[in-house]
Amino acid sequence: MNTSAPLLELSGVVKEYPALPTPLRVLRGVDFSLGAGECAAILGPSGCGKSTLLNVMGTLDLPDAGTVKICGHDVAGMNASALARLRNHELGFVFQLHHLLPQCTALENVLIPALVHENRAAAKDEASRLLERVGLLDRRDHRPGELSGGEQQRGAVARALINGPSLLLADEPTGALNEEAAAELAELLLELQRERNMAIVIVTHASDLAERFAPIYEMHGGRLKRRE
Ligand code: ADP
Ligand code: MG
Repeated sequence: MNTSAPLLELSGVVKEYPALPTPLRVLRGVDFSLGAGECAAILGPSGCGKSTLLNVMGTLDLPDAGTVKICGHDVAGMNASALARLRNHELGFVFQLHHLLPQCTALENVLIPALVHENRAAAKDEASRLLERVGLLDRRDHRPGELSGGEQQRGAVARALINGPSLLLADEPTGALNEEAAAELAELLLELQRERNMAIVIVTHASDLAERFAPIYEMHGGRLKRRE
């Protein structure tokens, strides 16, 4: 990894979806840069392209033009297995809905991204430590359906962190939670960001949430503008 380059760097990123009569151009030249351990919030109304942008940042989708670099490496030049390795080692994802597997316990869900590891015992210890950190250790054997919305999201956060990512990408992570659980989850994410010196990009339509993860980048007309 190139340690002098920004952790994440987008330049001139364009992304469109096929549509008639003309393609829907959602991202129209996004420039963005984030260093290791930094926070950023991307704020914009529903439908403006926030999830599209986060998917491109996380290499879940590729841009139609422009470049995405992670740790200085242009993702366009990587094959599928290199991208999968990069995602697994460097990136963690948290979505609005937890996406925990319903038939697996909390502990098993946290372990899933670590199944590729040779040392299963160490991974299991780390999963337990993470569940403890997010306040779910006593729920380790519960299935997602037996957890509250806030607990499900905390489980999803633990799962995102199991491989020690340098960047956490969070797409409306509190969007399905009540006010109290949302505030708790935001606080947890900020604590984890500081403890682990991990970078976070959070995407939201809620200004008060975005402020906690400042600096804020507003999405307008398919571009980002940093709020002063
Ligand atoms: P946000 O997350 O800000 O609500 P999205 O990135 O999900 O916005 O969507 C931006 C725009 O792109 C919306 O108009 C949406 O309908 C459209 N869109 C999103 N995903 C697709 C897709 N897979 N195919 C076609 N259009 C899409
Ligand atoms: Mg979205």
